[in-house]
Amino acid sequence: MAEYDVVVVGGGVAGLSAAMMLGRSRRRVVLVDAGEPRNAPATHLHGFLSRDGMDPAELLSTARREVASYGGELLAGRAVGIDRLDGARFAVRLAGGGRLGARAVVVATGLRDELPEIPGLRQRWGQDVQFCPYCHGYEVRDSALGVIGGEDRSFSLRQAQLIRQWSDDVVFFPHRIDLEAHERERLVARGVRIVDGEVTRIVSDETGVRGVELAEGPMVGRTALFVGPRFVPSDELLTALGCEVNDEGWVATDRTGRTSIDGVWAPGNVVDHTAQLINAAAAGSAAAIALNNYLVAADVEKALNGHTEPVPAN
Ligand SMILES: Cc1cc2nc3c(=O)[nH]c(=O)nc-3n(C[C@H](O)[C@H](O)[C@H](O)COP(=O)(O)OP(=O)(O)OC[C@H]3O[C@@H](n4cnc5c(N)ncnc54)[C@H](O)[C@@H]3O)c2cc1C
Repeated sequence: MAEYDVVVVGGGVAGLSAAMMLGRSRRRVVLVDAGEPRNAPATHLHGFLSRDGMDPAELLSTARREVASYGGELLAGRAVGIDRLDGARFAVRLAGGGRLGARAVVVATGLRDELPEIPGLRQRWGQDVQFCPYCHGYEVRDSALGVIGGEDRSFSLRQAQLIRQWSDDVVFFPHRIDLEAHERERLVARGVRIVDGEVTRIVSDETGVRGVELAEGPMVGRTALFVGPRFVPSDELLTALGCEVNDEGWVATDRTGRTSIDGVWAPGNVVDHTAQLINAAAAGSAAAIALNNYLVAADVEKALNGHTEPVPAN
């Protein structure tokens, strides 16, 4: 089994940022990535200072080059399990066989967006069907916007209020949400038009979204849509290890992404659905710094307990 100081699982911005800082800390690090970052359907990213408008794939390929330049190894593949071994060590199992040994692991596997099952919606996801106005609201400002009610009622209602910030022409389609009178009142007060009824299809052509089709009545013309997905953390590796979860069911960490299990860190969307690219990258960096300190402390203990020479830095 190849041995490393740290195995990073997940090569989005959180994992890559952790791997870069660990490489710069002269740690032996390998990153294994399945290559399906959450924002892959988007052709440009926003809100990341100095990277605004960049192709998300370009951000990641630049980051991968940076990780490699500090000696970080990059492996395409999927981790299917993490075993705790004796002596505060871990073995990361890979799909198709093979194991990677490490003193610590960073699990930065992100989350999955579960969309309402509406024909035509997923095809436009990440293009002109979005969820985050901070990422993609400015680009569709002042146009005919729609917000479709999703599974999370309060998220959808907040989203409808929020999107109005970017356009005077916002229609809320509650879809399967039964609105209370006071909720209607608040939406109307905010200048949001409400069109009731079940949404049966998102209509689009080669130019993009054209409108929203309902079970009854004519199509409502719209040029861009927002919807609230259900955020599902890709945290199976962490929960199988026994990491504690919080009251909302997400793996619990401290401010550096440290989980309840010694030697296991989890930065980015896998533990925090609100993290945008810049936050996820920052979380990866914070995890790497905390993790490096953890390894330094372990090295000191090791030197005190039987080693006459200090443990080499790498
Ligand atoms: C459509 C869309 C557009 C967005 N646009 C923006 C934007 O413009 N600006 C912005 O700031 N944010 C944007 N976001 C949010 C952004 O995608 C997240 O903030 C960011 O991806 C979180 O980074 P992460 O590293 O935590 O997770 P991810 O980027 O999702 O990376 C996780 C990686 O782990 C890999 N992985 C998962 N499981 C395993 C496994 N078992 N073994 C190996 N690898 C595994 C995945 O394949 C993936 O490559 C957008 C999101 C969506 C859905």
